[in-house]
Amino acid sequence: MATHRTKMLIIGSGPAGYSAAIYGARAMMEPIVVQGIQPGGQLTITTDVENYPGFADVIQGPWLMEQMQQQAEHVGTRMHWDTIVEVDLANGPPYRAVGDSGDEYIGDTLVIATGAQAKWLGVPGEQELGGKGVSACATCDGFFYRGRKVAVIGGGNTAVEEALYLTNHSDDVTLIHRREELRAEKILQERLFKSPKISTLWNKVVERFEAGENGALHHLVLKDTQTGEESTLEVDGAFVAIGHAPATELFKGKLAMDEGGYLLTEPGSPKTELPGVYAAGDVTDHTYRQAVTAAGMGCMAALDAEKFHATLDFAKAEAEAEAAE
Ligand code: NDP
Repeated sequence: MATHRTKMLIIGSGPAGYSAAIYGARAMMEPIVVQGIQPGGQLTITTDVENYPGFADVIQGPWLMEQMQQQAEHVGTRMHWDTIVEVDLANGPPYRAVGDSGDEYIGDTLVIATGAQAKWLGVPGEQELGGKGVSACATCDGFFYRGRKVAVIGGGNTAVEEALYLTNHSDDVTLIHRREELRAEKILQERLFKSPKISTLWNKVVERFEAGENGALHHLVLKDTQTGEESTLEVDGAFVAIGHAPATELFKGKLAMDEGGYLLTEPGSPKTELPGVYAAGDVTDHTYRQAVTAAGMGCMAALDAEKFHATLDFAKAEAEAEAAE
């Protein structure tokens, strides 16, 4: 077990965490990034990215995150493949965090960039059939359903992108949505409706996931939200794409959150209510949730942390001068 000290401790390794690291390192804050269980964050489980500025051609999410990590390392960031399991924010700055490895991290400033995770429906069969037909990531698991029948549940950008992606593997994709209007962007909707491989089921919710004799997913039991009528849909794979929940469990009772569990910050800034503690990216943003906005917020957090750190240095110098008098 070791203790690692830094002027800027960053928890999380998505676009927000890595951007904070790039700016922090270049400001001589000698940042440490504790990467978490999914280094690179949500973009490592996507494929095509065509909306991150700077790339004329379509790029791959995992590649983009590798580039960000390397860029952060090249300018002097220390990466730790560890997962923070405990934070002490009551007695800072400096703030203390403990990793799954038993290592201790002490940061004069703290940037929280822990992101968000996929939400589940919470209906019978969903968890039991996880990895046996039920998944929350088509880009990770879609390949396993080549030539088979699949369904996607949800009506947002993620659901539509996942349905479109699955057409690379399957000719029979059903999108199941609880209303009769999608929330996804119009350009994605157009692509969806144009695809001969995708059909849509409107006003339907999944009541349960049921297995066949082999123990793997066999069908979904659906309920019509208008008539209450039940029906079944035989599928080999079902992808739940109903949004995300922020990864803020660690900060419950320690930092202010909204009713969705997103960390609250000063409007227009990544500052939390604690001095030198910042929140950036999806952990605090349920509106935009884009790689580019997360990166921007990471940058803002690093700039604010640097300014705050200068005040700590100033206070320390003053105290030393007083003591010397
Ligand atoms: P969203 O919150 O946008 O959409 C969630 C969808 O799931 C909604 O259609 C919602 O239905 C449905 N839903 C939620 N809970 C349930 C439930 N219990 N049962 C059935 N359906 C449910 O999440 P996304 O993950 O799609 O997107 C999150 C953010 O990320 C958005 O801002 C999106 O724009 C962005 N994004 C952008 C991408 C891009 O630009 N390439 C790609 C992917 C995401 P209802 O509509 O009725 O509320």
